[in-house]
Amino acid sequence: ALPVVAIVGRPNVGKSTLFNRIVGERIAIVEDRPGVTRDRIYSKAEWRGRIFSVIDTGGLDIGAEDEIVQRVRHQAELAIEEADVIVFVVDARDGVTPADEAVAELLYRSGKPVVVAVNKVDNREQADAMYDFYRLGFGEVYPISSLHGTGVGDLLDAVFAHF
Ligand code: GDP
Ligand code: MG
Repeated sequence: ALPVVAIVGRPNVGKSTLFNRIVGERIAIVEDRPGVTRDRIYSKAEWRGRIFSVIDTGGLDIGAEDEIVQRVRHQAELAIEEADVIVFVVDARDGVTPADEAVAELLYRSGKPVVVAVNKVDNREQADAMYDFYRLGFGEVYPISSLHGTGVGDLLDAVFAHF
């Protein structure tokens, strides 16, 4: 079976944009506003000549904050079961939020390898924003811009180090 990478995180951090960037096609729907998207999308991808499977997690992103957190946790749980490595996406512009902490707790308990992607670091000046995310407790964090593609190669190298 192919190695499986799951992309998890709260709504609007850029999971689907990263998924599309990794698979090289626009498969996942990128939403400007949180909305109703398919629960999970699977695709094959290739990095440095190796084929792997990627899962984008989404689901219903509307409702009260605690409902959203619950649904994100549920999607994360399903993805964790299937994944060999988890990419935990957070938003550099928001810093660590309570919803991020809820997901982190779940990921931490799973014991699966987690690589933190600090997304929306679109230029060098924004890179300092990544340091807040070290307190999530998953070690190294990787600044990326899913929009521009910067940092995604280093992120995938870190993911592949776990296969
Ligand atoms: P998801 O809900 O986590 O799947 O997030 P989406 O991929 O749908 O993206 C949510 C919003 O963030 C969209 O408006 C994206 O265009 C935007 N976005 C995603 N990645 C980046 C990035 O690297 N930089 C910036 N500036 N915006 C981004
Ligand atoms: Mg999405």
